Amino acid sequence: MRYELHDGRILTWSLETHVVTHCNLRCVQCCPLSPHLPAWAVEPDSLQADLTRLARVLEPNIFKLTGGEPFLHPNLPAVLDAVRASGICEQVSVTTNGLLAVSAPEAVYERLDRMTLSVYSSAPLPEKSLARITERCEHHGVHLTVKRIDAFQQITPEAPLGSDAEVRDVYARCWLKVRCHLVHQGRFYSCTRPPHVATVLGPAHPDMPALAEVDGVRLDAPDLLERVLGLLERDTPLATCRYCLGASGPWKPHAQLPRAPRG
Ligand code: SF4
Ligand code: SF4
Repeated sequence: MRYELHDGRILTWSLETHVVTHCNLRCVQCCPLSPHLPAWAVEPDSLQADLTRLARVLEPNIFKLTGGEPFLHPNLPAVLDAVRASGICEQVSVTTNGLLAVSAPEAVYERLDRMTLSVYSSAPLPEKSLARITERCEHHGVHLTVKRIDAFQQITPEAPLGSDAEVRDVYARCWLKVRCHLVHQGRFYSCTRPPHVATVLGPAHPDMPALAEVDGVRLDAPDLLERVLGLLERDTPLATCRYCLGASGPWKPHAQLPRAPRG
């Protein structure tokens, strides 16, 4: 994959950030591993600082607030203001399961350009809620995309991939490295997996490298443009790919994990 530059900034399809890691659902094979992560919410000031740095070298077509479930963030309007103030992108979107979007404050809808609503067959959003969200989006000029999802693709393998050839093949076939760029806690990643795979699978694999560091570019690097471009255009797999199936896993009916026992 090769990228074009415009005024010294790399043109990309999209950039996202996980505004929270926790979620009110527990989807099997959740790509950001939300059901297995501790609760965490981004600080708007810290996100703004990261995005201001990144905006000097990156020009995504759209910026997405994802998670976890973004509407669990205690101050989503402040997060949206931080994104705007950074100048990273004009189009700002939120990706949600919709369960809390029904009752979210007006201040969120006023600050959004787009919303992607994932309606899962294993935890369907009531049609009445969908109608209300549609009405609120129309009222605020928010472009709504509804995705009905009844299957998931396995993305986390049962065990690390055994051969280098398998890892290379998974990386070569993976579209997430083009469409799911992530900014998270001071680093840029070409996909959403490295920091969370490290947190969730790291304890069971003592030989695992520090994925969040080796597969992420620090935003305070002096040669940020070259490093980000090098990451995006690399032909060799990430260290994380050994613990991931990317877009190569089998499809299964959508399902929820059992509720975690209360601690
Ligand atoms: S709604 Fe999204 S973030 Fe939440 S568990 Fe399901 S896939 Fe993961
Ligand atoms: S870790 Fe590798 S295979 Fe997994 S999503 Fe990222 S680039 Fe794709």
